[in-house]
Amino acid sequence: MAEEEPQYATTRQLEDVLAALLDQIAAVRDELTAEQDEAKRAGRWRWETLEGEERADLWYELRDFIGWYNTTIGRQNEHLAIWGCWPGHPVVVEVMTAQLVAWKAAHRSTVPTDAIRLWFEHLWPAVAKIHDLDGNVGGLGKCAAKHHETNGNAVGIPPVDPADFDTLVREDVEAHSPVETDAA
Ligand SMILES: [Zn+2]
Repeated sequence: MAEEEPQYATTRQLEDVLAALLDQIAAVRDELTAEQDEAKRAGRWRWETLEGEERADLWYELRDFIGWYNTTIGRQNEHLAIWGCWPGHPVVVEVMTAQLVAWKAAHRSTVPTDAIRLWFEHLWPAVAKIHDLDGNVGGLGKCAAKHHETNGNAVGIPPVDPADFDTLVREDVEAHSPVETDAA
């Protein structure tokens, strides 16, 4: 029938419009979810608020990063070394975490960038400051003498004992975990 033809077309058009709107709503919802996920991930290098698994992960990531640093840079000079007692020095932990995060950012670029050069420019004063500060205020200032050994031209840096480090991470994560509310 001639009357039903436009009616049918209109319904189809409405369905199309509805489908398009639903698609847009879904896209907005996905975008919001992605933003929320990203917001949750914000602060994942902030020791002040990190808890549980994420806190443990950062400890091990920082240990690996400092391991790389010591192997390539720290061992060249005792003023550059990050001694194995670093996990016990809060300033070192915070400052080296900042180096780690900036290092990750600097290496993200897929095109030539001066970010890596800038990373090194900021690294030297950061490491100098760490060595400037005495252990009683969280630095490595008084640690070198009792930790450093020379090995040819390279400084011997005893690594963090793996078992001690596991214990430190476990105890630190326990101390920075939400209080159990389960009374049962
Ligand atoms: Zn120390």
